[in-house]
Amino acid sequence: MVDRRFAADAEAHRRDAPRFCPRCGGGLGGAGIVTEFWEADDRRFYCWCGGCGWAGEVTPSGPGVVGHEPEH
Ligand SMILES: [Zn+2]
Repeated sequence: MVDRRFAADAEAHRRDAPRFCPRCGGGLGGAGIVTEFWEADDRRFYCWCGGCGWAGEVTPSGPGVVGHEPEH
């Protein structure tokens, strides 16, 4: 028996997981890292781009992209 909820999550992951760096447009599937996690009811993706070094969070159902700028 297939867990429908799990299948839906996997499908949502494929649909919503960011594929490209919002800064340089490079693919995140190769040198980059995309990690899915939950915060409260929001599903977020923590992303790191190996091309330009950008790191940040992408929230498909929320405000979108939040960059993690280094402290000045
Ligand atoms: Zn990049």
